[in-house]
Amino acid sequence: GRIPFIAGNWKMNLDHLQAIAFVQKLAWSLKDAKHDFATTEVAVFPPFTDLRSVQTLISADKLELGFGAQDLSQYDSGAYTGEISGAFLKALDVPYVIIGHSERRQYHGETDAVLAAKVAAAMRHGIVPVLCVGETADDLEKHGPSAVPVQQLRDALAGNEAITEIVVAYEPVWAIGSGQAATPQQAEQVAAELRAVLTELLGEDVAQATRILYGGSVKSGNIAGFLREPNVDGALVGGASLDIAEFASIAQFSK
Ligand code: 13P
Repeated sequence: GRIPFIAGNWKMNLDHLQAIAFVQKLAWSLKDAKHDFATTEVAVFPPFTDLRSVQTLISADKLELGFGAQDLSQYDSGAYTGEISGAFLKALDVPYVIIGHSERRQYHGETDAVLAAKVAAAMRHGIVPVLCVGETADDLEKHGPSAVPVQQLRDALAGNEAITEIVVAYEPVWAIGSGQAATPQQAEQVAAELRAVLTELLGEDVAQATRILYGGSVKSGNIAGFLREPNVDGALVGGASLDIAEFASIAQFSK
């Protein structure tokens, strides 16, 4: 079976000093709660400048907490000012990288072709992509709930069908930071369609092993409903991942 995954996307919050204090306290909280990482995997996704500090702390204290980056370059090296190579992330033992978050699509003009190249870059460096897909309120009205995320998944996987490990996050844009989460039924409907696309493109085994997360206004009060759905394997948490007690409490839930 798929191990549920609770992932905290910090977005552009917490500098490296704040990150160290935060991860220490989060680790204590999870320990106090006797968190079993084999039952629910937990990871944080800090800004680039925090990654070295977080990686050092996790390895020095032998924490089971996972971590990842929020983006990577489609290129491996060269004249790309401001970009971060997957090779650099790999050198820090970064296991996961978020690709295609709606904020990057919206504010940084990331197209589906660029995102396919980023998925390929993650594959080249052995980093597991956490690929985000999701429709805007406008898309929802015009095309219904699943057409846009399904097409985004197809586009990001184009040419990358050899991938063996990927996490998909379904994040309806209208639910992000709005306090208005999708219903578990809405999330399940889209997650089931995304899994069907994974089966078609990547084969049954990879599709069955792939965690599909829901993201958008997840908190401790609504996580259980999402995890009850057969095709929802966890959550990508934004705002609530910045509150240690709240995030630790979300992580306590399992299937
Ligand atoms: P919120 O949990 O703040 O709605 O953010 C969701 C998100 O964008 C996670 O990537």
